[in-house]
Amino acid sequence: MAKKPDTSRTKKVGNSAAHRGLKEELIVAGKVLVAQGQDDFTRGHLSLRLPDNPQLFFMKAHSIGLDEITTQNILTIDLDGKVVAGAARRHSEVYIHSEIFKARPDVNCVIHTHPTYSIALSATGRTLKCYSQPGALFYEALGTYTDTIALIRSQAMGAAVARALGNGRAVLLKNHGVVVTGATIAEAVIGTIMLENGAQVQLLVEAAGDPAAEFSRAHIERLKAEISQPEQFAINFDYLARRVKRRG
Ligand SMILES: [Zn+2]
Repeated sequence: MAKKPDTSRTKKVGNSAAHRGLKEELIVAGKVLVAQGQDDFTRGHLSLRLPDNPQLFFMKAHSIGLDEITTQNILTIDLDGKVVAGAARRHSEVYIHSEIFKARPDVNCVIHTHPTYSIALSATGRTLKCYSQPGALFYEALGTYTDTIALIRSQAMGAAVARALGNGRAVLLKNHGVVVTGATIAEAVIGTIMLENGAQVQLLVEAAGDPAAEFSRAHIERLKAEISQPEQFAINFDYLARRVKRRG
């Protein structure tokens, strides 16, 4: 006679398989970010909320590059910023992630990096204009955090970054870096890359001087709706993931 299936065990195995899948996504995302020039020594980090426990998230550990994430060194962290699983060192800026996850139930991935052009744009005190298509993705969706150049090392500072984000997609941390969010890891990664592209074009335009007028709000909003489709993020993230795999 067949034994009754052990459902508790099945559930556990199912969850751990799902968690392994999420960790694999983080690993690939880190490699994609480095391939796209988003690395700054071992600085920068990304996190992914657990769909089966939204009070927890996986996060890259301290002291390793974005392209050195493994299933062993990923930390599991709660919304107070406390490590609940994993032995690696935690980034002191964990509060960027925990406070945004607290404030924004729709956000499942948070990325913080130090990309050159986005930092340069933040240092001008100007926000992103729509001089190229990436500008449309962040149209009326880009906050600025101007409290300090320092690391975001407390819950209060993390909460201030979350307030600067508001209902937007990303925040420019003045003279420091970017924080980009997404409902998916693909959305956050592609958003981070596009923000940098948009900032680069803008700095070129402004350096050339005398920029022509941007397109109308209606034009920009139409493009924003098109390029904000989840499919757009997935297609482009999958392409970049295949590319890093091809290159080993
Ligand atoms: Zn930083």
